[in-house]
Amino acid sequence: MTRVTNFNAGPAALPLPALERAQRELLDLEGTGMSVLEHSHREPPYEAIHREALGLLRRMLAVPDTHHILFMQGGARAQFALVPMNLLHPGRSADHLVTGTWAKQAWEEASLVGAACGATARVAATTEREGRFVRVPAADELALDPGASYVHLTSNNTLFGTQWSVFPDVGEVPLVADMTSDLLTRPIDVARFGLIYAGAQKNLGPAGVTVVLVRKDLLDGARTDIPQIFRYRSFASSDSLFNTPPTFAIYMMRNTLAALEERGGLPALHAENQAKAARLHAAIDANPSMWRAPVERASRSMMNVVFRLPTEALEKAFLAQAAREGMVGLQGHRSVGGIRASLYNAVRLADVERLVEFMEAFERSHGG
Ligand SMILES: *Cc1c(COP(=O)(O)O)cnc(C)c1O
Repeated sequence: MTRVTNFNAGPAALPLPALERAQRELLDLEGTGMSVLEHSHREPPYEAIHREALGLLRRMLAVPDTHHILFMQGGARAQFALVPMNLLHPGRSADHLVTGTWAKQAWEEASLVGAACGATARVAATTEREGRFVRVPAADELALDPGASYVHLTSNNTLFGTQWSVFPDVGEVPLVADMTSDLLTRPIDVARFGLIYAGAQKNLGPAGVTVVLVRKDLLDGARTDIPQIFRYRSFASSDSLFNTPPTFAIYMMRNTLAALEERGGLPALHAENQAKAARLHAAIDANPSMWRAPVERASRSMMNVVFRLPTEALEKAFLAQAAREGMVGLQGHRSVGGIRASLYNAVRLADVERLVEFMEAFERSHGG
């Protein structure tokens, strides 16, 4: 068996111990004589896994009692619609900070939901320039409405490789964050957020489950004129067993979280994530005649490091040669181009060291 070094943007690398555990347990879960895929979601073997996954998230992210943790489906994009469906009331308005492709789509979806119920989604800041985003806004660029139902931002902009390093002060208005590509990679004060959501497939586990952290009191006033399956309250009041949950995805997330906790939890993950990004950024900055980072330094992402080579032909050669050496997933998003190395939790410092050594060899062989 040969496993490649996987820099995929999502779905992405998973910790090897989490995969090996699934392999060991697949046919017979803990002596029950059947696979987790075959168990009822209302029987103790699965319920224990479900509870353990919830407990791991609560402990690792230090989620306070003021917040529910929900497991939902439909990915982050379902949340683009569910946040306004639940929290944007007729006649009200939501503020959106537009810093990338996903952030823009979240605003577009909220606009649609709002239009259907007489509410609006405002762009309270955008850093778009000629279809590109190279930074997050400064505090004085935000035109916030103190009467907004909530402020929505995207903590890490996966395609363009920018990230909020400090979250803006939005006063008493609830802050809603799409953290799909950086939840559980750095410490956050969950209490500062009204709602956080993340598709699991970048840092938390496989595709198929979405984690939502939501302040309990926000749900008291949530809309009830929407189908039950789309209400946060349905999931909050049933421990996310409102209907059949994606049991295997939650099982794999449990395995992933357990492996990451074993590695030292959030403090260890954060330290390693900082070291990985610093190592790669240093290699890029060391040779401006070969590498160029298109994003502003203060907005650089720790998770998705985007860079360009002098020509597209060299970029193609770089990607092909990297693939031959077992390093995959390095092509930039099709709408952005260039190179993107996604350095999620399952990517280790040694993987980044390998990439940097490859870059240095590439420089020597291509006269950079
Ligand atoms: C990947 C990603 C999405 C899309 O997630 P889906 O689960 O495919 O809907 C949304 N937002 C961000 C920040 C992402 O990185």
